[in-house]
Formats: sequence, structure tokens, C-alpha cells
Amino acid sequence: MSAVVYRAPMLNPRGADTLDAWADGGLRVRDGRIEAIGDFDAVMRVGEAHDHVEVLEGVIVPGFADVHIHWVQHPVRGAFEASLMPWLREHIWPEEMRYADEVFAAAAARRFYTDTVRAGTVMGMSYSSAHADAVRIADDARVGDWMTGDVVMEHGAPEALTRASVHEAIELDRRASGLGAERYVVTPRFALNCTPRLMADLGAYARVGGFHVQTHLSESAAEIREVLREFPEADDYTDIYDRAGLLGPRTVLGHCVHLSAREWAVLRARGCWIAHCPSSNEALDSGRMDLEAVRRHGIPYALASDVGAGPSHSLLHVMQRFLEIHRAADVAVSGTEALYRATLAGAECMGRSVVAGNLDASKRADFVLLPSPGGPLDAEGWIGEWTRGAMHELENRPLATWIAGERHDPATVSVNPPPP
Ligand SMILES: [Zn+2]
Repeated sequence: MSAVVYRAPMLNPRGADTLDAWADGGLRVRDGRIEAIGDFDAVMRVGEAHDHVEVLEGVIVPGFADVHIHWVQHPVRGAFEASLMPWLREHIWPEEMRYADEVFAAAAARRFYTDTVRAGTVMGMSYSSAHADAVRIADDARVGDWMTGDVVMEHGAPEALTRASVHEAIELDRRASGLGAERYVVTPRFALNCTPRLMADLGAYARVGGFHVQTHLSESAAEIREVLREFPEADDYTDIYDRAGLLGPRTVLGHCVHLSAREWAVLRARGCWIAHCPSSNEALDSGRMDLEAVRRHGIPYALASDVGAGPSHSLLHVMQRFLEIHRAADVAVSGTEALYRATLAGAECMGRSVVAGNLDASKRADFVLLPSPGGPLDAEGWIGEWTRGAMHELENRPLATWIAGERHDPATVSVNPPPP
């Protein structure tokens, strides 16, 4: 099969401070994989005479990765104003109970992937509801490279959402979804819904099966107070997960807004990842993650929307909030870093950076076409332009999204629900 060479300006993130950029770039794609990237002329020199050239009006960047999003909260994203604990109990748990209905769940899953692809997201890690069938439904409808897991809750939530034991939970999941470690994430919702015994069982299950683990850690001050009352034997919040054996290099911890020096050191020692959710932290007024401490301790992190506390699934919107919130606290952050944290860092977090995350040769051809801001090549300026504007504009800004070389044109405009 002959290759297609896409011709457009391109940005290819390599790390927090580095990206490659071409004003007249060429991206050669064959069978869903990238064969070459570079200056258009150079790419054409090593190609074949019958390569098909497609000139694109816009700028090519890698597809986005969202490493913490509750797909079952997508219909109500940004709809409720409250702090974390009342938000969960009064709004979110009743909403998630609806996913016992498979017809409702299937329709919501289709809408979720339509909207995320529209916004340029090609991969990620999602939280499902407590229902094992909803995990299977999400995977059946999957567009892009996603992992998902049902939120395991044992107590402290409506009875319809809790499981009697880890064995019941895992048996159900395996039977209902049949997903392996590439697609299934072990997902204890958070410490307040789990006993130490349940968390230890989940930790052991994840280690033996090579599964990723995702959960929430230290999101809000009120939550932390409740957690420490419930686990008086623990040194701190992080210690609860550490004692359960849940912390390792395949563990992705959402938020980490309020951590002590001891806790940062534990995360560093265990090699955990942070899913940094600035738009969600802002929406629930949870506080600002201490980015300076994260950097000082060398803890890896990737950006995430945390829909539905985060009001938008758009990673451009998350990048905007990331840049504004940290700059407002006089912490230096660049557009280059924001783009890296929203793309390649997410793939690294998911253990997929060999096959995805940026535009390097041999990777999957996952990329997004963004509108050209015009003028000479200016990566920082362009990223600044793309992240400017209202949430709805950012959700609909990508001109097209390619996943494994297949082009997805915007068939729908994604919109937020009207305020309740
Ligand atoms: Zn969350």
C-alpha cells in the first residue's frame, strides 16, 4: 500500500522544555503508522515516487491524551456547583446509578467518544461507573486507545453502587468485560469508599496481573479531614494507599493538591504518576497543585480534564487553565510544557510512549490539525493562540483528528449541557 505524505507546519513535543518544529513539514504515514517526519523536501527525498501528497491547511500536532476522565460524568460535566464531598454525594452518585441501564450507557458512550475525538483526544484513562457492564459497553464503543475501570466502592456510597468484596468486584469485571491489562484499570474510587483489606486485595490483584491502578489522592481539605478520621492508624493520606501496596510505577493518582514533604517523597520513591487536573481543581475550588514541589521531587505528571468536575473534556481547555493558574501564582510554565503534558506525557503515563504520544517515526499516526495562526513559525505563540477562548470554542477548535491514520472529520459540534 502506498504512503500518504501530509504537508503542513508541525510541532512535535519531545519533553517539558523541548519540541521539534517545522514550518513546512512532511509526515509520511503508511498502514496507520508514521514512517517519517521532517522538512517536507527531506521526507519526499527518502520516499517513493507514487507517494500521495496531501496539503493540509492548518498545523499538525500529536493527538491529545487525557489520563483522568470520568466518562460516565460526561453528560453532566460542569453542571453542578459544590465542593468535592457534597458534589459527589448529592449529584454524582445519583447520576452514576443511571449506568445500570445498558441502553442509556451505550448512548452515553457513543456521545463521549464523538465529543472527545472532536476535541482532538485520541487516548486516555477513564473511570467508569460501579457497573461491570458499563466497562464492557465503554470498550465496545471505544474510539482511540483507552483504558477504563469500574470504580470499586465497598461502603460510604448508595447501596446500588457498592460491592460486598473484592472477589465479587473482580469476578464480575472479568466476566462482564473480559478486558486485559491493556484495557482494564484497577480503580478503587478513593480511600473513603474502601477498607484497608479491599485496597490490599486490589493492590495484589493489580501487581499479579500487571494492571494499571488509578485513584484519587488529596483533592480537597475537607476530604483529607474525613479520610484521616477514617484511617487513624495512617501517617497521612498517601500512607493509606502505600500500606495497601497500591503505589507503583503503573499507579496514576488524580489531583495530589495537598501533600506533605513526606508524601511527595513516597510518590517519588514508588515511581507513581500524577494526573494533574487544573480545570477541575479550579471548578471545585480544591486548591492549586504545588507544581514547584512536583518539579523539586521529580515526580512525573500528565494533564487531565477530570470531567465531570472538570467542566470540559477539551485538553486545549485544560492546557489553558494549567497555564493561567500556575502563572497567576508566579510559577513559570510554558506552552511547550503544556503541549507535552497533554500528549507525550500522557502516553508515558499509560506505558504507551513507544507506540504513541508524539509524531516520531514508527509510532501510531494519531494527530490533530489545528487552525494556522499565520505568520512565521512560533511554537509558543501558536500554543498561546490555540488555548485562548471560551470552553466551547476550544472543544471545537481542532479541524480534524486522525487515529491510526484514519481521519475523523467533525460530524457534530460538542456542546455543554445547559445549566441546571
Ligand atoms: Zn476524578
